[in-house]
Amino acid sequence: SELTPERQGAFCVGLESALRAGFAVLESGGSSLDAVVAAVLVLEDDPLFNAGRGSVLAANGEHELDASVMDGRDLRAGSVTGVRHVRNPVLLARLVMDRSPHVMLAGAGAEQFALELGLEPVRNDYFTTERRRMELQRMLRGEQQAGGEAVLGTVGAVALDSAGNLAAATSTGGMTGKKWGRVGDSPIIGAGTYAANDCCAVSATGHGEYFIRAAVAHEIASLMRYRGLDVRQAADEVVTKQLVRIGGSGGVIAIGRDGAIAMPFNSPGMLRGAMDSGG
Ligand code: ASP
Repeated sequence: SELTPERQGAFCVGLESALRAGFAVLESGGSSLDAVVAAVLVLEDDPLFNAGRGSVLAANGEHELDASVMDGRDLRAGSVTGVRHVRNPVLLARLVMDRSPHVMLAGAGAEQFALELGLEPVRNDYFTTERRRMELQRMLRGEQQAGGEAVLGTVGAVALDSAGNLAAATSTGGMTGKKWGRVGDSPIIGAGTYAANDCCAVSATGHGEYFIRAAVAHEIASLMRYRGLDVRQAADEVVTKQLVRIGGSGGVIAIGRDGAIAMPFNSPGMLRGAMDSGG
């Protein structure tokens, strides 16, 4: 209800550019990992979405960004949380995976790693838009609940490439008015992001605390592995039953190893798109 048709149209333009960026990688024989990173990069740079520029503000009026990537081929993963000066957190998550012995780097250590690898830092207010400032003010005045359009802007991508490899990436500014130091589901492998070639790739958006408690992305993979569900059944079970039972709102985008796509949500809306060789 907060989303005017004009704004929805603008979001769709952003989604379409992201889909095209990811698809271009796949079409030229690139990997699903490169494709999901390419798609998420476009959305981090688009100020409409709650990731990179345009991220929501924490209660202290600053931005703390989270991102993660996972390669379904060998279960390698990288993630960063609480970064404040990294223009594209998804790139840093990828570097944590590729260039460090770790999976997850937080705060100052993550920033230091970014500098060492030559990522140019940005000021924290690079991420701020007028709309996000107003949203925080409304929330601090008690006029806006956690939720609304602000929580629908986390971005993610999942992909299956021609070699049969699955990958997932997620990036977010978190939730408006969050406490300083709060970590959501997006950088947590198995909660907001998961990919494994034997089942699926998943990226989640929603009220992160619930997604962590339900281990959403890994739970979808488990239902496929151990109960033999297909990706739609597994994603539906977690999003429309398990999460609803504990009061967690949001949704996921998921793709199975057979290429089937599921994008269920239990929130009032979730902007989403998909593209395959048929368009
Ligand atoms: N899941 C994100 C978080 O809790 C927020 C969102 O998806 O909008 O940080």
